[in-house]
Amino acid sequence: MGDPGAGYQHTLQTIIDFLPSGITMFNVEQQMVVCNQTFRTMLEFPDSFFADGLPSLRELALFNAERGEYGAGDPQVIADQVCERARGMQPHVFERQRPNGNVLEIRGAPLPGGGWVSIYTDITDRKRAEHEARRYSTYLDTVLNSLPQGVTVINERLDIELWNKRFENLLNLPEGELFPGVRFEDVIRRNAERGEYGDVDPAQKARDTVALAMKFEPHRLERTRTDGRTLEIEGRDMQIDGKVAGFVTTYTDITERIRNEETLRRVKDMMSDAINFSPTFIWETDAEGNYTHLQGVEHILGFSESELLGMSRCSTLCDKRDCADCEVARRMQALEPIERLVVEARSKAGTLTWLSTSAQPVYDPGGRYLGYRGVDVDVTEITLARQALEQIALHDPLTGLANRRKFQDRYELERLRQARVGLPLTLVLVDVDHFKQVNDTWGHIVGDICLKSVANVLASHVRTIDLVARFGGEEFLILLTDANAHEGGLVAEKLRRALESKEIDIGLEVKPTLQITASFGVATLLPSEDLPLETLIERADGAVYAAKRGGRNRVCASANATPAV
Ligand code: GH3
Ligand code: MG
Ligand code: MG
Repeated sequence: MGDPGAGYQHTLQTIIDFLPSGITMFNVEQQMVVCNQTFRTMLEFPDSFFADGLPSLRELALFNAERGEYGAGDPQVIADQVCERARGMQPHVFERQRPNGNVLEIRGAPLPGGGWVSIYTDITDRKRAEHEARRYSTYLDTVLNSLPQGVTVINERLDIELWNKRFENLLNLPEGELFPGVRFEDVIRRNAERGEYGDVDPAQKARDTVALAMKFEPHRLERTRTDGRTLEIEGRDMQIDGKVAGFVTTYTDITERIRNEETLRRVKDMMSDAINFSPTFIWETDAEGNYTHLQGVEHILGFSESELLGMSRCSTLCDKRDCADCEVARRMQALEPIERLVVEARSKAGTLTWLSTSAQPVYDPGGRYLGYRGVDVDVTEITLARQALEQIALHDPLTGLANRRKFQDRYELERLRQARVGLPLTLVLVDVDHFKQVNDTWGHIVGDICLKSVANVLASHVRTIDLVARFGGEEFLILLTDANAHEGGLVAEKLRRALESKEIDIGLEVKPTLQITASFGVATLLPSEDLPLETLIERADGAVYAAKRGGRNRVCASANATPAV
């Protein structure tokens, strides 16, 4: 062992060759005295650069400047600057990005007795990781602060580590209340102190909440704040590698949702009341027409809702034997809306009920047909009342026969039909013979009894499609559909005989029964003719006059009547 310095140098070289950092040492003359292989590799020096021994700082700086290690600029100037800076050097740390993108951390420190050591660490991976971490942290911040909910992240020691702005806003937290690592217990206690939890002992409340939180169990609760807004608070525990790492809590303002739910409930109640207090029921069907929802049907039709669910209207309520006769079924088949269509229905007890049905097809947002939704209103009372009014307006109160107005309407209809089918129709005018005498002899009441009896005889001897009306006084009109003059004459003759032979029970002791006769005038309207009722009546009247003159109790045809068609 000659030179002990050489021994140390060898030892030093061995040590630094094993270090993961690049290491160089310069003496006071700025001459490199030591460097390790890591330094050469890290900075990609070619072996040739060290062929003539270790370089001076200026040689190193110039070589580096020429290969762009320090960025753009005149290499000579840069090398001079590097050497200048190295003089009187203080301990320092800086980072340098190499042209290949790698980042080096360079630490320098003066050596006792002059010179310095530089330690180069490749921090490219660390930098990248830091950058990634910053990126994710930015993502996290952005996500957290864009959430409509407040969020807090609390670690296993119950320190609040993370929160977003919405959380601060929702709880109206005072400025500075939150800082990284603030204790959950302190925040709860201060919340209690400012009355957030009502009249409680703040310290106790904080202890209780901490005790609950320490269980790290999922929880959900609603809390109405002093400003009247309600928060839904939901906590979920967080695990890392199977161990509790804290919990994430979300705070959602559900004030509007609660309000909407209340409104919805109220509207539903109102609707229920409206349905239950009115003669109405509502329903929905599926696409096959089977009830899927019903409300209020029982108090109208006696069927319970569950009895009708899954059934079709046709198979339960409808009064028609065949769907072809039912307008509701037809419209639903065609997916047409139904507006206040009055239809007959059967109640569970079998009574006839009139329903005014309004309904329309329902589609999903994609346009797919789902079924019908409708309302039925019980219009039985009003329908019966209308029928009664119609009866009064269109009928003669004494005999119950149609009156002139109804006869007129029917004549108009029949005249159109007759023209369409090309068949004649015949009118018969009936005038009771010597009726004044009946009145004069037996009194008006007996007269009325006789008129009713005449009405019965006439009505019971014609077809249902024919119409008998009281024309006025002791005169009656008969409309014979699809009948020519000959057929009309036969009918009139049949009626004359029936009347003549009728023993009218007038209920008088002296005269229990009475027989009366009438004179019949027949007038026919041919399909080719288009005459008002008055004209046809005039013709029939002429025939009656002829019958009277001919001795009464007989049938005469109008002179205008053409022979059988
Ligand atoms: P004729 O054979 O020529 O027809 O003689 P008539 O007496 O039937 O003819 P007229 O037209 O002179 O008399 C009709 C009578 O019918 C007069 C009237 O008192 C009676 N009359 C009309 N309407 C009613 C009624 O509603 N009740 C009663 N009891 N009699 C009525
Ligand atoms: Mg008369
Ligand atoms: Mg008469």
